[in-house]
Amino acid sequence: MSSLDQMRDNVGFMKSFQPLGESERKTLAQVSRILSRANVIPCTNCKYCKSACPKSISIPDLLRLYNDHVIYGTTQMLRRSYRFYVGKDSRASDCLHCGACESRCPQRIKISDQMTRIAELFEP
Ligand code: SF4
Ligand code: SF4
Repeated sequence: MSSLDQMRDNVGFMKSFQPLGESERKTLAQVSRILSRANVIPCTNCKYCKSACPKSISIPDLLRLYNDHVIYGTTQMLRRSYRFYVGKDSRASDCLHCGACESRCPQRIKISDQMTRIAELFEP
């Protein structure tokens, strides 16, 4: 978290906190093991980055598509989804590498580097 608003947003759910049960904990541990092996981008879809982008790139959606490629390998199908999330000037390859999104990201993701990888993967 890098601002008071982000912290309030993140702790707000604790008002009605319910602890995980045993089977939920096991499932979570299993998912965690799979994801750490798969080298996915640790985006939480918080969307703090989105409004910062001068190219209106749909950053969390594109990162999710990349992760789906890593986990499921359904790259051809994901190329079609990619076209749904990008506009004429808001493709991953339109990234200006300005870093405006990165200063908002609580996960410290190098988003501009990921945009390069995503463009190589999903654009013709
Ligand atoms: S680095 Fe790329 S994705 Fe991030 S705000 Fe700048 S143009 Fe948008
Ligand atoms: S700010 Fe970071 S973690 Fe949040 S949606 Fe954007 S890339 Fe993902």
